[in-house]
Amino acid sequence: MSLELSASRDAFERACRVMPGGVSSAARAFGPVGGNPPILASGAGARVRDVDGNEYLDLVGSWGPLIRGHAHGDIVSALGDAVSRGTSFGATTELETRLAELVVERMPSVDLVRFTNSGTEATMAAVRIARGVTGRDTILKFQGCWHGHADPFLVAAGSSALSLGQPDSPGVPGATANLTLTAPFNDADAVAGMAARHDLACIIVEPVAGNMGCIPPAPGFLEALRRISDEHGICLILDEVITGFRIARGGAQERFGVSADLTTMGKTIGGGLPVGAFGGARRFMEHVAPLGMCVSQGGTLSGNPLAMAAGYATLAPLAGEAYDRLEQLGGRLEDGLAAPGVEVQRVGSMMTVFFGGGPKRCLEDVTRCDMDRFARWHRAMLERGVYLPPSQFEAFFVSLAHTEEDIDAIIAAHRDALASL
Ligand SMILES: *Cc1c(COP(=O)(O)O)cnc(C)c1O
Repeated sequence: MSLELSASRDAFERACRVMPGGVSSAARAFGPVGGNPPILASGAGARVRDVDGNEYLDLVGSWGPLIRGHAHGDIVSALGDAVSRGTSFGATTELETRLAELVVERMPSVDLVRFTNSGTEATMAAVRIARGVTGRDTILKFQGCWHGHADPFLVAAGSSALSLGQPDSPGVPGATANLTLTAPFNDADAVAGMAARHDLACIIVEPVAGNMGCIPPAPGFLEALRRISDEHGICLILDEVITGFRIARGGAQERFGVSADLTTMGKTIGGGLPVGAFGGARRFMEHVAPLGMCVSQGGTLSGNPLAMAAGYATLAPLAGEAYDRLEQLGGRLEDGLAAPGVEVQRVGSMMTVFFGGGPKRCLEDVTRCDMDRFARWHRAMLERGVYLPPSQFEAFFVSLAHTEEDIDAIIAAHRDALASL
């Protein structure tokens, strides 16, 4: 099967002349799978269309945010209303307060929340608050977890850092990297040992790892992090940029029954516009500038009315039924994708198809995958009209716009793709 991508090829060459790698975010590059990327022109519901006119069932969903699919009518009209009233004020609006109220209601561990423009800004700020309030400098993260591209997190980072085979980025000062300790995901004993030996400001974790492929927390792992944090006065940051509002109405904290001191959010909370947020217990958040000890944080466009309107329109209608539906569609896709030689790991509507190497509990397991087979599968799926993240180390997402027929079409493409490898 072949795919006509001549207009995409021209568009991509043009992009490469003026943008590094032709992309605005490294994870989008097709390096790990090879071949030319389709250049996307539009999306509607569960589908995207490229500049050559090819249509794909989309499982990227803008890397998570589009839980209601592309160009949903509610979101388009909320954006229309907001845009006609002005795109930015740099002052508090009721749109912001309304979304903040929704966050506080759905995430019981969050007393106060602040909006940012990205998940990276949220995690950066959360770590600064943890350091400011505890008076400690060292942080602990997990190998293969991605918390955005700020310096303290580019140590054994997931996502594009993994795909490019370059876990530690040039440009991160050694002095900064030295303050970031890492432990294997799902290894609570390692964490207990490190917490006893070091004065940790925070433990930051993706409650479901999503940036080395989808890895659920082992039973008891998140509870152990909560216990260790309490024992040592460590701030537990749950990075819910993917999981928040995605794997349950109240995110991973609702789904797994753990609670964070600080929570970082992004992706789904903006419904496709650039939004992040961090929030948590009053004893931490009451030190964010202009309050308390005034931990610095700000942003010209933070809480932007368009972003707040899109986020609210996305999240407000999501109740139990929506999550039941995502669970059902996710389960149907997982069952259909299961095959000899591949493992499907899923939590709700986020999942990854791993090629070989047995079940994945941590980064080391993931690095045993057959990357070449993944790359060939990725291209075979694209040729069969399924758009997936171009890396073995990413999760993909089912949205409420997918129908049973869409899921079955993806499964049929998968069977055919596997047979062709
Ligand atoms: C995507 C992601 C981030 C970074 O969010 P950006 O909006 O890309 O800056 C942080 N943490 C996790 C878990 C993510 O998946």
